[in-house]
Amino acid sequence: MMYDVIVVGAGPAGSAAAFKAAKMGARTLVVERGSEPGAKNVSGAMVRVEDLSLFDVKTLPAEREVKRVRLVLGGDLQVEIKPKERLVNVGRLKLDKWMASQAESAGALVITKTTALKVTPEGIITDRGPVSGKSIVLAEGANAILSIGSGLRRDLRPEETVQTVKEVYSLNKDEVNKRFGLTGDQEGIAVRYLFQDPVPGAGFLYTYRDSVAFGIGVHMSSLISHRIRPQDVLEEVKRSLGIQELVKGFSLREYSAKIIPENGFPSWRPCQGNVYLAGDALGLVNPITFNGIGPAVISGGLAGEHAVNGECHEYETSLLRDRIISQSVKVRPLVRELLNERVMRNYISMATNLSSSWVSGDLSMTPLKENSFTLLKHVLLLMGATS
Ligand SMILES: Cc1cc2nc3c(=O)[nH]c(=O)nc-3n(C[C@H](O)[C@H](O)[C@H](O)COP(=O)(O)OP(=O)(O)OC[C@H]3O[C@@H](n4cnc5c(N)ncnc54)[C@H](O)[C@@H]3O)c2cc1C
Repeated sequence: MMYDVIVVGAGPAGSAAAFKAAKMGARTLVVERGSEPGAKNVSGAMVRVEDLSLFDVKTLPAEREVKRVRLVLGGDLQVEIKPKERLVNVGRLKLDKWMASQAESAGALVITKTTALKVTPEGIITDRGPVSGKSIVLAEGANAILSIGSGLRRDLRPEETVQTVKEVYSLNKDEVNKRFGLTGDQEGIAVRYLFQDPVPGAGFLYTYRDSVAFGIGVHMSSLISHRIRPQDVLEEVKRSLGIQELVKGFSLREYSAKIIPENGFPSWRPCQGNVYLAGDALGLVNPITFNGIGPAVISGGLAGEHAVNGECHEYETSLLRDRIISQSVKVRPLVRELLNERVMRNYISMATNLSSSWVSGDLSMTPLKENSFTLLKHVLLLMGATS
């Protein structure tokens, strides 16, 4: 059988591509190496519901609605924000299965336990044999072996890679509510941390129905230059931020490590001939907002649409026109600046020093004055990213 569109990977980008292609009447096949969609993407995430609007979000399997986002800087300064838009915490297994089932309902065939090994002029070779297809969407995530093998992009460099380690602890919903001051089983909180030691990095904590996820992201270059393992950073950060106390009595259910790309489109080509890249394979995560699922769904939908009609050039321009994707791209010069160890340490100290001076009645704003040039430069970069 000749498929119109073959999609590699049943993550957010792949299911969005398959959903869109199948809706347009294309014979669509998805191959996923995991035992089911999401099996390789364990634990969960926080997502902006608006970014998933390609799908029928009324049935979204959200675990909790995020009513508060807390920012913790270096352990001393905490700010809490009520989000204006709808944010939810979702389990990845449930989310990925939900998206894949919507692609199936639209008419796509999803085959699991099948790994794509190579792209060929006729389609793809999998570990279960060859499959013929007119267009191929590679939505294989950050490791992107096929995308690199097809010559559309190169491997990530250490300075373009964030290494994450994540743990999920479970107990019961009452204990999750009690520990995090949540008023009901639907309410959730998301916490973002910025830390300096043992290497500068960012952390996150999400509440699910009966579990919590805590994870950290550290720049690969920092790990290399400090000769420290990511799991050791996780342990030290858990101690210094008091996470161990927060999850005391909970049992460790999952432990995973994954990379997040910090570079990609438009340095990498989104398509060539009949091969299209989407999501993490195209490096579309926004490291400032931590939004990777949104750009994956949006780019996947666009890739699916243009793959059906063989419109490579139109795919590229549609990516640049999209607000969420163009923001992920435009924010990169600022991210490169902020991911510099010295700059990150400086910002954390500046914010904590400013707030403690303010509390003790000192309004001289010395840290601001001392860093005014850097601040101005970063504000200009931020304005450029949001223009
Ligand atoms: C620790 C961590 C926390 C995160 N938190 C958030 C968050 O809170 N919010 C957010 O928006 N984003 C978050 N992200 C980013 C987000 O997870 C990714 O941006 C998003 O999953 C990208 O979707 P994708 O479909 O491109 O790739 P993936 O989700 O990686 O999906 C790729 C799929 O392809 C399959 N696959 C790969 N190779 C093959 C092959 N050769 N053959 C067949 N199948 C294959 C994989 O099994 C997988 O199912 C986080 C990332 C990490 C690492």
